[in-house]
Amino acid sequence: MIQNYRDLTRKEMEAIDKENTIVLIPLGAIEQHGSQAPLGTDMMIAEAMPQYIKKELVKEDPDFPMLIFPVIPIGLSIEHLNFSGSVSFKPDTYYHMLYEIAESIQHHGFKKLVFLVCHGGNRPVADMLSRQLRHDFGIFTFVLSSGAFLDPVVQATISPENHWDFHGGEMETSMVMAIHPETVKLGLSETGYKSGGYKGKKALNFSGAASINWMGEDLRTEDGRPIGIGGDPRGATAEKGEIIFKRSAETLIPALLEIRDWDINA
Ligand SMILES: [Zn+2]
Repeated sequence: MIQNYRDLTRKEMEAIDKENTIVLIPLGAIEQHGSQAPLGTDMMIAEAMPQYIKKELVKEDPDFPMLIFPVIPIGLSIEHLNFSGSVSFKPDTYYHMLYEIAESIQHHGFKKLVFLVCHGGNRPVADMLSRQLRHDFGIFTFVLSSGAFLDPVVQATISPENHWDFHGGEMETSMVMAIHPETVKLGLSETGYKSGGYKGKKALNFSGAASINWMGEDLRTEDGRPIGIGGDPRGATAEKGEIIFKRSAETLIPALLEIRDWDINA
């Protein structure tokens, strides 16, 4: 059964099968997402994604053993700190905060933790932390990325004239429109491009084999104003957001089924 961690009483928690139940911890962020999307975009996505996952999982296994932990609303958003409203931990604080949550959970006997990364900047710490937790406590920690942004079905939602959709662009704005449409001011949309030292670079990118860590200021409007988003959000719709959520959830199901079947004693 999939339940919310916070809804259980102490007695109910005592009765949970700790060896087989997965604790899913969604990792959100509070950071600027351009002129049109809310600061809580990643946090809202982190709240909604487990529900989409649940909908897909119960089709495969109505008794799927999982507890959904409350969203961690703040993450690593250092690259956005110079834009109004963004809030970030420093990497060591974030690491230790998550470590102590995981330490408490494993203390009660849980063996399988999943970090659901709903903001790309959180991923490196989630990866490092997972290895350390496995070493220190012998538990199994898995890291899943929540948005299937490179999936062909998701890519097909992007408007043809929107050539590079990244942070705060059409895809993320569509996702917020699917769940909290009242927070999106689509009419204020501006397009963000790779600018500054990035302009015209082919070998160096934001991530991948040859990368340089980016700051929001590297993303600018056509006339050079720092905007901190990549892409053109104007084509965003709630329908597209629904497709992105559903497809992203679907792509995570095979991994979650394997985590369910992972033999902790093998
Ligand atoms: Zn985001």
